[in-house]
Amino acid sequence: MTQDNKLDRFPRAQFMSGPTPLERLDRLSSELGIDLWLKRDDLTGLGFGGNKTRQLEFYLGDALQQGADTILITGAVQSNFVRSAAAAAAKLGMQSVLQLEERVPDMGEEYYSSGNVLLAQILGAEHMSYPEGEDETGADAALHAHADELKAQGRKPYVIHLGLNHPPLGALGYVLGGQELCQQMQDIDAIVVPSGSGATHGGLLTGIALDESDASVFGICVRRNCEEQQARMNTVLQKLADLLDINAAPLQDRIKVLDEALPPGYGKLSGMTHAALNKMARTEGIFLDPVYSAKTFAGLLHLVSAGEIQPGQKVVMLHTGGLPALFGYQNELIDNLS
Ligand SMILES: *Cc1c(COP(=O)(O)O)cnc(C)c1O
Repeated sequence: MTQDNKLDRFPRAQFMSGPTPLERLDRLSSELGIDLWLKRDDLTGLGFGGNKTRQLEFYLGDALQQGADTILITGAVQSNFVRSAAAAAAKLGMQSVLQLEERVPDMGEEYYSSGNVLLAQILGAEHMSYPEGEDETGADAALHAHADELKAQGRKPYVIHLGLNHPPLGALGYVLGGQELCQQMQDIDAIVVPSGSGATHGGLLTGIALDESDASVFGICVRRNCEEQQARMNTVLQKLADLLDINAAPLQDRIKVLDEALPPGYGKLSGMTHAALNKMARTEGIFLDPVYSAKTFAGLLHLVSAGEIQPGQKVVMLHTGGLPALFGYQNELIDNLS
């Protein structure tokens, strides 16, 4: 059985219009002394794009198969996942309920009104809130309680879970994403990706392994420190391997996580992150988002200066999108332009 057949078993909605571009960053390549490419998953299309489009193809495929009419999902106030889910639901004629968690302390007014919050309102999503940001089980339970109310009203809710005790359907999207990258380019030495829920990191690592690429995949921690993220990735890869009926151990041996760019914490920016965001814009004319892709690029810069990525190597950074959050952070970005 080929790996494509393994994925064909899962129902899939189609939101991607085709492969995303893989572009060489000429000016950064010469500055850093490496052969640097950007996989433009900020350009996935659906509702402002980003990495959740690939993940949602499998969640919404499952929802459609179950006859759902309403999608429920939880995330940070400036979550790209909930905004993308609202766009996916709209495209399929479903309703969406977005639960926004207080995950990032001490944010300005625009964090609560602009960026993804504004876009979700334009998409017609219903909002609810959850007082904590580090309680995946509680957040999922609150979604289920609301789903039960909807059921009692005769609706057909579908919950996209945050917690790890559910099959990582979204990671299947990045198994395909990894295979798409392997078709675009051979002999990649290193791939640098953000590592949050781990669906992107775990899926991509699995996808390139199925295509027999031995590129190093560096996961840049955006949410948890290395130790916690390493444990999470072990679980994600195990659950994904179970879904695909493959052996997890060789994948787990390839986990690499780095947390130099994480401080001061999820959704909070250091000078290193601001510098990375400004550098990409000013050198290549490409925007990164403050929460994920700027930290990923900051992590890449660290890997180069620490010698873990070596001169001349062919390196691909995955741009996972998230750009609406620029406007949720606008005052902080203005204060850090130099
Ligand atoms: C959600 C998100 C991530 C993290 O992806 P995971 O699959 O959760 O690890 C990275 N970048 C952006 C822009 C995101 O929205």
